Amino acid sequence: MTEAIDVHVHCSEYKDDLLRRYAAQNGLSYDLEELLSSMDDNSISHSLLLSPVLESGRPVPNAHILELCKRGGSRLSPVLTVDSSGGSVTEVLSMAVRERGVVKGFKILLGYSKMSATDPVLSHLYDFAEANGLPVMFHTGDTALQSGSLRLSHPLVIDEVASRRPHLKIVLCHMGNPWIETAAELLYKHPRVYADLSGLITGGGKYREKYMELLRKRLNEAVYFVGDASKFLFGSDYPVESQADALRMLSTLDVDSTDLERILRHNARELFGL
Ligand SMILES: [Zn+2]
Repeated sequence: MTEAIDVHVHCSEYKDDLLRRYAAQNGLSYDLEELLSSMDDNSISHSLLLSPVLESGRPVPNAHILELCKRGGSRLSPVLTVDSSGGSVTEVLSMAVRERGVVKGFKILLGYSKMSATDPVLSHLYDFAEANGLPVMFHTGDTALQSGSLRLSHPLVIDEVASRRPHLKIVLCHMGNPWIETAAELLYKHPRVYADLSGLITGGGKYREKYMELLRKRLNEAVYFVGDASKFLFGSDYPVESQADALRMLSTLDVDSTDLERILRHNARELFGL
C-alpha cells in the first residue's frame, strides 16, 4: 500500500466530545490506541491532530491535544485551535512559541465558534502564521452542530483573507462541502490556498451509493477545474470517517498516479514541512 499522510484527524478523552456519535456510527472506539493502529494498518506515516468540538461547540483544550501527540510519539503532530475569545489567540500563540517545531499549524472553527475569518482578533495569528510559514486551517462547509453558522463557514468568506494576505498558507477543511465548486475556485485563484478532503463521506441516507458517485464526480471536477491536484490534501477527519474508508474513496478518483501521490503525501509534506 502507498504511504500516506493524514492532515486532519481528531482524538480526545472527553466524554462530551461531539465526534463520539460519528465514532459509534462507524463502529470505532475512538481512542489513541485505535488511531495509531489504524495508521499502521493503512500505511499512514503521519497524522495531524486537531481539537474535536465538544457538545457545547467549544473545542477540546489544545493542551490535551499536545499531550496526546506526545503520547503518540513522532507520528502525530498538533494543530492548535482558536476559539472565539481574544484571549484564545494570545494563549495559542504563546503555546506555538513554546512548542516551536512541534506545532504544525492553526485551526479556526469559524461557524462553530461564530467567528468571522476577517475578525481583527485573528490578525496577530495570521501575522505569526505568515512569518513562520505555518498553515492556517479553516473549518468550511456543513457544521455537525445545528447551531453552527453556515454563513461564517462558507468557503467564499476565505477569499477576502487570501486576497489581503497572499503569503498566508490556507487550508479549506472538508473542501467546503457542499460548496466544493466554490472551494475549487479559491484553490484556482489563490496560489497559497489548499483544501483537505476530510469528512466528506457523511451524507446520502438511503441514497448512500448514489451520494458517493456524486461526491466522486464533484471531486474529480474540482481537480480538473484547478488543473491538477497540487492543492488537495488527504484527510479522514477520523472518527467522522475511518482512515480506511477515506483512502478507499480517494483511490476511486479519476486522476493520474502523480496526482494521487500528491494528494496522499507530497502536498502535505511540502505544505506542513513534514
Ligand atoms: Zn474535523
